[in-house]
Amino acid sequence: MESVVGADLAGLADRVAEIRARVDTAAIGAGRAGGEVEIVGVSKTFSREAVDAAYAAGIRIFAENRVQEARDKFATPLPEDASVHLIGQLQTNKVKYTIGLFSCIESVDRLGLIEALAKEAAKREVVVPVLLQVNVAREVQKSGCDPDEAASLVDAIVASEHLRLDGLMTIAPFVADPEDARPVFRELRVMRDTFRARHAGLALDVLSMGMSGDFEVAIGEGATHVRIGRALFGSR
Ligand SMILES: *Cc1c(COP(=O)(O)O)cnc(C)c1O
Repeated sequence: MESVVGADLAGLADRVAEIRARVDTAAIGAGRAGGEVEIVGVSKTFSREAVDAAYAAGIRIFAENRVQEARDKFATPLPEDASVHLIGQLQTNKVKYTIGLFSCIESVDRLGLIEALAKEAAKREVVVPVLLQVNVAREVQKSGCDPDEAASLVDAIVASEHLRLDGLMTIAPFVADPEDARPVFRELRVMRDTFRARHAGLALDVLSMGMSGDFEVAIGEGATHVRIGRALFGSR
């Protein structure tokens, strides 16, 4: 695979341990339980060997942003207790490849995609777990729905018996000081609480927010899943 760049496999187990410790410290600092926050290993551009090394070091959820790359990388399935999330833009014509490949589509951000996913899931008689990706900071060129559209998209997902809305996802703006991303993480959590209140029985337990540069701040604001690429696998 051309996208195999030099993951430093020798140091991977140490980095997993170091990130795990920082994640747990941040959780405890926020009055939460250590071990409660899931580290999602963002393996995009890295090889299957890097994924397998991260699995051996304890990572159980991986994330990819391209369907074709994931199809190639996971042609040989992962062990039963590991899974892969999709975190990149999903074109509707690729939806058919996502079922069975990804255990969660974190990047659901528009009605056409919701409809395509619901239709494909119905055809296959499965229920697809998804997150709604919200462009909280309304950055141009960033994927994710406009915050003003989020409520109606939540309604659309919830209306499909073939989709299961587990929570929300966001990518914070890239800022020099991660503290500057805090309002974005906080706003996603507030949105989640609002949707939870509006839909009885909808837990929306998952808040996928925080990356290599800002995960500790995200955990302070309630992240349940942090998506870590560079800090685990090295620079891309
Ligand atoms: C690449 C990517 C990440 C990981 O970013 P790092 O800075 O490498 O930790 C997280 N989330 C999304 C949606 C990404 O595309």
